[in-house]
Amino acid sequence: MDFSFSSDQQLLKNSARAFLDEHCKPAAVRLLWDDPRGESDTMWKEMAQLGWLGLSLPERHGGSEPASAKQGVGNLVHDAARMASQQPIDVAALREHVLSHFDTIEMPAAWLAERERTRAVAMIDKLLQWIAANPRGLVDVELAFERELAGEIETGQRVLLGGRVDRLELDDRGRLVVVDLKTGAQAPSAKDVAEHAQLAAYQVAVEAGAFGEGCQAGGAEIVALGTTKDDAAVRGQAALAEAADPSWGLALVHRAASAMAASAFTALVNDGCGYCAVRTSCPVSGKGRQVTDE
Ligand code: SF4
Repeated sequence: MDFSFSSDQQLLKNSARAFLDEHCKPAAVRLLWDDPRGESDTMWKEMAQLGWLGLSLPERHGGSEPASAKQGVGNLVHDAARMASQQPIDVAALREHVLSHFDTIEMPAAWLAERERTRAVAMIDKLLQWIAANPRGLVDVELAFERELAGEIETGQRVLLGGRVDRLELDDRGRLVVVDLKTGAQAPSAKDVAEHAQLAAYQVAVEAGAFGEGCQAGGAEIVALGTTKDDAAVRGQAALAEAADPSWGLALVHRAASAMAASAFTALVNDGCGYCAVRTSCPVSGKGRQVTDE
């Protein structure tokens, strides 16, 4: 029996170690020791943002159940991308890490394992190739952020934008560029990426000062590693400031926040429906229905 950690468990272990290194220094522990409650609301909030509180719950109930095989491969590649942020890159150690952790990913069928293993190794090669040719400087990887945005939505509420970027880079004009690594088999089209909401939200976060006051966004990029092509498919989104309407990203985030804050949520068929965790209870599937009074 194999008692070693799976790649997901390893990721969880690494993030727990980094979190505790940062938040559980002796001085902080002494403060909590003297605190009558003995716990910190800030730490609970940050642990919730890391998804730890929902680890044992299924995703359809708001939790974050264990990753599927495809997610497991994706997590392993992201893990390798984090290792590749250390210079010089130890290519042999990186490949060894991927191969040695691959068998801990549960595959739905044995025949899939070899195909996914080959795909994972190819993704690492493409990642290393892309890093070698990337002219921008690396600022950080797997960086969490949270920032209150300017303005209010229709309800009068402010918007708190939070998340985690795969890579934060600096271009030759001193602007920050967010890079999102994708491991799915399809690369999004250049047109889709030009209006990609996730990338736009990252740029809004940069402009709002989530990674330092006064920082400018130099665009954002998707680096798709999981396609059948020999190279990474790189699709860029232009800097918000260069758009005909530089406020389009902020307006998009405000629209999304307004929809989330509303009392009713209209289900619209979209590209994510096929793998949505709650599709069987959603009206678009034909099975879900309203369970409250009009
Ligand atoms: S099935 Fe589609 S519309 Fe319904 S909740 Fe999921 S992603 Fe949204």
